[in-house]
Amino acid sequence: MENYKHILLAVDFYENSETVTNKAADLAEKYQAKLSIVHVVDSLPITDAVYGTDIPFNMDLTAELMAGAKTRLVKLAERLGVPEDRLSLEMGSPKTEIIRIAEEKKVDLIVLGSHGRHGLGLLLGSTANGVLHHASCDVLAVRLQDN
Ligand code: AMP
Repeated sequence: MENYKHILLAVDFYENSETVTNKAADLAEKYQAKLSIVHVVDSLPITDAVYGTDIPFNMDLTAELMAGAKTRLVKLAERLGVPEDRLSLEMGSPKTEIIRIAEEKKVDLIVLGSHGRHGLGLLLGSTANGVLHHASCDVLAVRLQDN
């Protein structure tokens, strides 16, 4: 098997994300691979027309969420020695954005948790499941215990 050259860590900053992060960092070191990190700020449901009317998209809240996420992402990157051009902070559907970034960066392995926010009690959460089904590269779903 060829060594992995570029690994993408998908981090949700949820309770268990340290386990996933450590696994991705260990693998990158073992394979001497580049490590990139993606975090996706979930798009807000208040934009959905299903709620009926004119609830305005709250730009302040969005900007605040993005700023908070950026701070955490940069802090994590500093700790892992990942340069800023290998960080992706996106907004939208985590599954879709993780796959898009993996293709854009031509990574050969995605590392994520078996479940996080969306998958408590399930063997595989929705993001992990979606990425596993649609990614064109290898995917490692790190088994996380329920808390
Ligand atoms: P889930 O399937 O949503 O329970 O999450 C499974 C795993 O997908 C998490 O452990 C993360 O590695 C990844 N993930 C979930 N949501 C996000 C997100 N918003 N940004 C980046 N990665 C995510």
